[in-house]
Amino acid sequence: MIEADFVRPEALPDELDSSYLGAVMRCNGFRKTSETVQAMARWARQLETVDEDVACVELLSRVAGMSVIVFVRQHTTLPYRRGITSYQHTLEHGSKANRQILRLSAMRTARQGAYLCEDCVKSDQATFGRSYWRRAHQLPGIYWCAKHRMALHLVESEDAYLKAPSAWLAQAQELGQAWVCIATQHPMVDRFTRICLGLLDTRKPIAVRAVRDVLRVPARNAGLRMHASGKKTCNEPLLSDWIASAFPSEWLATILPGIASKPTGTIVSQVDGVLWMSNSASSSDAYVLAACVLFESADEALHKFMEADRTQAATPKEEAVLTPPDLNALRALYIKGRGSYGRANRAAGSGQYQVRKSLGGIGLPTLAMKGGRSMLEAARALLLEELDIEESAAQGGVTVGELLDLIRRMAAPLIAALREMDVANEDPARVPRSRPSMPNRVQCASKAAGRPQSRVATA
Ligand SMILES: [Zn+2]
Repeated sequence: MIEADFVRPEALPDELDSSYLGAVMRCNGFRKTSETVQAMARWARQLETVDEDVACVELLSRVAGMSVIVFVRQHTTLPYRRGITSYQHTLEHGSKANRQILRLSAMRTARQGAYLCEDCVKSDQATFGRSYWRRAHQLPGIYWCAKHRMALHLVESEDAYLKAPSAWLAQAQELGQAWVCIATQHPMVDRFTRICLGLLDTRKPIAVRAVRDVLRVPARNAGLRMHASGKKTCNEPLLSDWIASAFPSEWLATILPGIASKPTGTIVSQVDGVLWMSNSASSSDAYVLAACVLFESADEALHKFMEADRTQAATPKEEAVLTPPDLNALRALYIKGRGSYGRANRAAGSGQYQVRKSLGGIGLPTLAMKGGRSMLEAARALLLEELDIEESAAQGGVTVGELLDLIRRMAAPLIAALREMDVANEDPARVPRSRPSMPNRVQCASKAAGRPQSRVATA
């Protein structure tokens, strides 16, 4: 095929990336995505230099005639999936500064299955001449079309998006009116949907720390458990229990199955941990569910998240990076000061932030402790004498939890590597450990209206 004949269809409003890829493929008479990607690259190379490792999403954005930032923001679910993260949260969605994200993560889906609205299909055919997959219909927990007020249809096929939704109408499964009742009659589900759509509209991720700090305020007022423990259960009220009682269980099972069916008082760190973890070990779903029960409205949640993110970003920080010779000198001061950041800081004459960031980055946490307790002794016992963790903690007069915390901080280089693996390998830590149920396999009784609202909302 002569690339001059390459046909470039218009990317339609809110069209999902893979839907557009399918449209490009069909317009040009290709059968496979690989053929389509190669043709897009050849076409792009006629106009400008294109890197060897160019991502599919970058090619699609060029074919659509827009910048990759705009394409990612308007046509992928990345702004939702990376809406709340600790990993490179200052990067705008679609930024070329991290090609790994563009290559491996930008075009992933936010949930299993492909969802279409029968009336949207008909009206899109009439308006645009082709039907397409809408991004807003592919978000977690959304089983109805807000415009046409009808249940979505589900297609369970790996390559669903590559064909037009109209081609699937005969075999798509209608989800049923009960899901519409849940969406229309349950204010918490409506709040969840609004927050998801709000995140989909963001230009950059919101920092996990900002979100955590904002969630902690109402959680503390409500007496919820605010810290980790080695135990699996506790007597304090748990965020996960609040979520389980605030949402319809059949709907919740399609998002976080472990929450819908767990016994009261069982800690689920993936959800309860959003109140204490500073790294994003949870998916956006968990943060959104937490926001639903801890705030009075979607607007309030989104406003507070973004305000906290802006405040955190605007907090002046001293220069974070020391050059390698300085780092060696700092390490020597750390050793001379027997692991005290304070002493290293005074000797180095650099800012506290610099010392913490530089030594923390190479896995050298502060060993200073108050009250006659010695983390240095505990660390020596654990790492040099190879005693077990309880004995080591006892030697230094510290708790096992404090010693575990030290080990986590020592593991800073490993943690950084694990985060990069998450991006490269399906974000394993960020997806639910058990597979969410598919809505067509959940018994969904239309009882949404009768269920209690969140304890916060009714308090
Ligand atoms: Zn519709």
